[in-house]
This record gives sequence, C-alpha cells and structure tokens, in this order.
Amino acid sequence: MNFDHSEKVQSLMQKLSHFMDTEIYPREDEYHSLVMNNTNKWQTPALMNELKAKAKEQGLWNLFLPKEYLPYGAGLNNLEYAPLCEIMGRVLWSSEVFNCSAPDTGNMEVIAKYGSDEHKKTYLEPLLNGEIRSAFAMTEPEVASSDATNIATKIEDKGDHYLINGRKWYTSGAMNENCQILIVMGKTDVKAPRHQQQSQILVPLSTSGVTVVRPMSAMGYLDEPIGHAEVLFENVKVPKANLILGEGRGFEIAQGRLGPGRIHHCMRLIGCAQRALDLTCERVEQRIAFGQPLSKQQSVRESIAQMYCKIEQARLLTLKAADNMDKYGNKVAKNIIAAIKIVAPKMACEVIDEAIQIHGAAGTSQDTVLSATLAYARTIRLADGPDQVHMMQLGKNLVVNKQ
Ligand SMILES: Cc1cc2nc3c(=O)[nH]c(=O)nc-3n(C[C@H](O)[C@H](O)[C@H](O)COP(=O)(O)OP(=O)(O)OC[C@H]3O[C@@H](n4cnc5c(N)ncnc54)[C@H](O)[C@@H]3O)c2cc1C
Repeated sequence: MNFDHSEKVQSLMQKLSHFMDTEIYPREDEYHSLVMNNTNKWQTPALMNELKAKAKEQGLWNLFLPKEYLPYGAGLNNLEYAPLCEIMGRVLWSSEVFNCSAPDTGNMEVIAKYGSDEHKKTYLEPLLNGEIRSAFAMTEPEVASSDATNIATKIEDKGDHYLINGRKWYTSGAMNENCQILIVMGKTDVKAPRHQQQSQILVPLSTSGVTVVRPMSAMGYLDEPIGHAEVLFENVKVPKANLILGEGRGFEIAQGRLGPGRIHHCMRLIGCAQRALDLTCERVEQRIAFGQPLSKQQSVRESIAQMYCKIEQARLLTLKAADNMDKYGNKVAKNIIAAIKIVAPKMACEVIDEAIQIHGAAGTSQDTVLSATLAYARTIRLADGPDQVHMMQLGKNLVVNKQ
C-alpha cells in the first residue's frame, strides 16, 4: 500500500486548504451569527451561496463522485477523495460549500446509479449544481430502525400511483428551505421475503400529505439551517415513475447508497479530530497555569501525544479501507469498512472530549467549535448505523470466515 498522494490530489489538497484558510475559517463566526440571527433559521444564509459560487469557479465541486459517474463529478477514487474530505471535515458546515455534504452525496449517488433518465434530469442535475437539497427518510420513531427490515411505512400500489403512509424522524436536511426531494424507504409488499419487502421512492417535499412536523434536536443542537425533521406522510400520492429501481429493491439500493459514501463520515471525523488537536496545541502554549504554560505539563503532553496516535491510527485505517474499496469493491472490503465505522466516531469523540478538557470552560462554550463538533461525532455513532450493528456484522463475518 502506498498512501503517497498523487500530484493531482496534492494540488487539490493545496487548493482546498487555501480556500479553507482564506474563505472558510475567517468567516466561521459570521456564518454562525447569520444562521442564529436569521428570522427563518432554516434558510441558508446568502454567504453560503457566495462561497459555493467561488468553490465551483475554482473546480472544488462535486469532488465526491467517482469515475464511474463521469461526466458528473471530479472522477476521484475513494483513496484520492479521503484527504480532501478530511480537510472539509474540519468545519462542520464547509462540505456544503463544495457540494460534498451529507445526505446529498448519498442521495446523488443513488439517483446517479439507479435513477431513470427522468429522475436524473429532474433531481440529480439540480443537486449536482447545488441548486436544491435533498433528504433520506428511513428511520421511524415507532420501530427499531437499526434493523431496516422493521421499517413500517406503507407504499401501496394503487394502480396508476403509489399511496404512502407513515412517520419518519431524524430526516436530516428536510428542515432546510432548499430541500425539495426526499428518498423515502417503505414497504411495498409485506408478504415478500424480509429483504424484498422494502422499496425506495422519490417524494417531492411539496407533495400534498407530506407534513414537516418539527425539528428534532441532536445532543441539544438543532443543526440549523439543515436540521433533522420529523416528517408525517398521510395518504401521499406519488406517480409510479418515482419508484427507484423497482419494487422490493430497497435493500439493494441501500447497499449501493453506502458505496463510496460509506466512509465519508469517517473521513470527515478525522478532520474534526485533527482540528481539535490543532486548536489544543495552540491553546496549551497560551494558557498559563501554576506558573507555566499548559504545554509544559507532562500530563498535557501525554494527552496530546495520545490524541495524535488515535487520529493517525484511524486515518491509516480510513485510507486502507478507501484503498481496499477502490481495489476490490465494497463487498470484498466490507470488513474493513465496518472496522473504520466502529473506530472513527469513537476516536473522534475521545479526541474532541480531551480537547475540551484541556480548553477548560472555553471548550464547552460557543467560542470554540469543540462542543458542536463533539455533538456531531457522538451522533455519528448512531446516524451512520449504531456501533453495535457494525460490530455485530464484523464479528459475524470474522467468525464465519474462520470456519
Ligand atoms: C443526528 C442524526 C441524524 C440522522 N439522520 C438520519 C437521516 O438523515 N435519515 C434517516 O433515515 N435516519 C437518520 N438518523 C437515524 C439513525 O440512522 C438511527 O438513529 C439509527 O439507524 C438507529 O436507529 P434507532 O434510532 O431506531 O435505534 P434502535 O434501532 O432503537 O437501536 C437502539 C440501540 O440498540 C442497540 N442495538 C441495535 N442493534 C443491536 C445489535 N444487533 N446488537 C446490540 N445492540 C444493538 C444499539 O445500541 C442502538 O443504538 C439520524 C440520527 C441522528 C442522531
């Protein structure tokens, strides 16, 4: 394995880092204050559109979409995208600037891979242009959604259309005023074998019978202006052509959805943790306690060393997973994908938590990015599939493989 970055990737990394230095970090406070002081907190501030236009102009756009989707996207493979995604991960809202943010990346991939020409024209193109946003509605309050066979929303065939009834929550992105399209998972045939009951269907948010009930908070954060919505579907009529791929193929799509996008959160989390370490290294030089800078305390140095080791271990595992996905495909790479999904969110939680400790009260405050970043890292231990489900799958695969 050679993890040296190619010249193309090095040049993109340089360009992206320069963009972060000149356009993103200096405007972090401004962005937060615009979001917080907006009369409509689900409206994306104009600053975002300004930054998106600049990023697009500089070719820092749709970097996540791999070669098989050319001419869409930058044609990078997973290993090439990993360091770029890490850099974007340093600021929670910056992936959107480059049209590389969740859940749109996964949704775009689904439509690019499985959508009809009509789906691509109506939804993929505006998504790729960054003109609209999307959401993925699978999880339901009433059922244990870590086991997707439980998903109970009904998608009934009514001859010339489907009728949808159900309740979803934590539909990330659906609060945002630019969100126009939902990919909804539900059952088309309750009598089919368990993994062929579910289907996925495109539902415009403006369809009659779709109600955004309320924003759900995550660790106390509403994550404005994107948000996580509770959404009610009451007798929602959708044309049959909106079904993706075919009835009973929801699991197949879910697997595909988790293609390259499978480890994007891990890549971002490396960036979150690295930023927490960088901020800590600056802070300990400035803060004097008991007559000397914190950086001179042995236990602080040990903490910093441990943070570095944890990040580096997770980064290498992420790169290896990305490399295996590129070389052997996601099916063969499934164990290492599960491994990094177990490792990266927990690592980020530990590193950011330590950074907060070293920052003192400031670490918990709105004056640093640390507490919001910790909340994000913590929720990924659920939102990207609970740790236990990845462990269950990895443990099972390893035992079975030994027989
Ligand atoms: C911030 C945030 C954003 C999200 N965004 C989205 C989104 O955009 N779209 C969407 O559809 N969903 C989204 N989710 C929901 C997320 O995917 C689910 O929370 C997750 O799949 C778990 O489902 P559940 O909450 O129903 O937990 P449950 O299924 O009730 O599971 C609860 C717990 O049970 C334990 N458990 C489950 N299975 C096992 C097992 N096999 N062995 C041992 N223990 C087990 C785990 O500890 C698990 O956390 C989001 C969640 C959060 C917090």
